[in-house]
Amino acid sequence: MAKTASRQPVITLTAGPVQAYPRILQAMALPQGYDYDDSFQEMYEACARKCAKAMRVDAPALILQAEPAVAIEAAAASLISKKDKVLNLASGVYGKGFGYWSARYHGSMVEIETPFNEAIDPADVEKAFKENPDISIVSVVHHDTPSGTINPVREIGKIVKDNGALLIVDAVSSFGGMDIHPADCHADIFITGPGKCLGGVPGVTFCAVSDAAWNHIETNPDAPFASILSYSDWRKAWSRKEPFPFTPSTAEISGLDASIDLYLEEGAEAVWARHDLTARAFRAGVKAMGAELWAARESIASPTTTAVKVPEGVSDDNLVAYARKHYGVILSIGRDATRHKLLRIGHMGPTAEPIYAVVALTALGAALRGCGVKADVGAGVEAAMAVVTG
Ligand SMILES: *Cc1c(COP(=O)(O)O)cnc(C)c1O
Repeated sequence: MAKTASRQPVITLTAGPVQAYPRILQAMALPQGYDYDDSFQEMYEACARKCAKAMRVDAPALILQAEPAVAIEAAAASLISKKDKVLNLASGVYGKGFGYWSARYHGSMVEIETPFNEAIDPADVEKAFKENPDISIVSVVHHDTPSGTINPVREIGKIVKDNGALLIVDAVSSFGGMDIHPADCHADIFITGPGKCLGGVPGVTFCAVSDAAWNHIETNPDAPFASILSYSDWRKAWSRKEPFPFTPSTAEISGLDASIDLYLEEGAEAVWARHDLTARAFRAGVKAMGAELWAARESIASPTTTAVKVPEGVSDDNLVAYARKHYGVILSIGRDATRHKLLRIGHMGPTAEPIYAVVALTALGAALRGCGVKADVGAGVEAAMAVVTG
């Protein structure tokens, strides 16, 4: 391992990239697959089918050879044309950010923006359609990670469907950590990846794309091809009978395959349950310790990431540095508009285990105290334990 000035972390409790499962890292270290070889092509097809099984859709998943931020930008580039009016739902940094990508491609856009500790109200979506019946595409982030908050995508999806528009759902940091699938929210493009709740690494993306969305992409005169932003390029690549348009990310595909195996072997419901339990235990501990949750209501707090308010007069950087220095624990800071306002603790993949709620409370409590803020760490740990084992 390269020698760095800082010592290696002991425990990473971030909101992504997360600690990866050893089995996934081992899969990535297998002999390199060759994209023209039958064995790799068979593995790739099996992987695309497994991703579909995990998402509970029939068609093999579209796999893109880049981390999910690229795949979301590609969804905008491929789906949205100058004829489209987009409704962008912005309850956080990622939601707001999609609007900037959309602006390169759309004819016009309507945006609903909430404070970044809030969630989108489906009634506002209903109202937007009443005022703009020509909205053709809606975009929503299920879990806006820099805020740790969840949007009601099932309700939103139903409204979008009833109004005949197409829906893009960014489920990158929720899929695999809670009960959400493309059909649940009528998603036409449902985007996720192995680097968050599945406990893998961030280099690839897998998506479920509806027939209606494919039709829109294939008839979009401006949709890119021979491009990192093209959905069409990779549409048929799942099939072992079709050539790859470019070299796939072979090691990452191997890791993705292992991440889906782990998820399906453990059983989706069991995986969601430990994400939920860990987050509930952590939230109970935060409150008992005397710190404040960022989410306006606990009902919109994500089971995969908890955001905690940075107390008045304290620096987020100092808090994170304290936990890192004295406990070897990495916590996440906010991002863009949530930067300096909150800290985030991920409950994703291997760290979606109740013991990590206790670890996080200790590291966070110590950091608060180290920065001169009162924190009852004992009460926090007791409250977390009460949630886990009564
Ligand atoms: C992690 C994440 C992505 C991927 O983008 P990066 O910022 O490059 O990691 C996209 N959307 C959401 C909601 C995410 O949490």
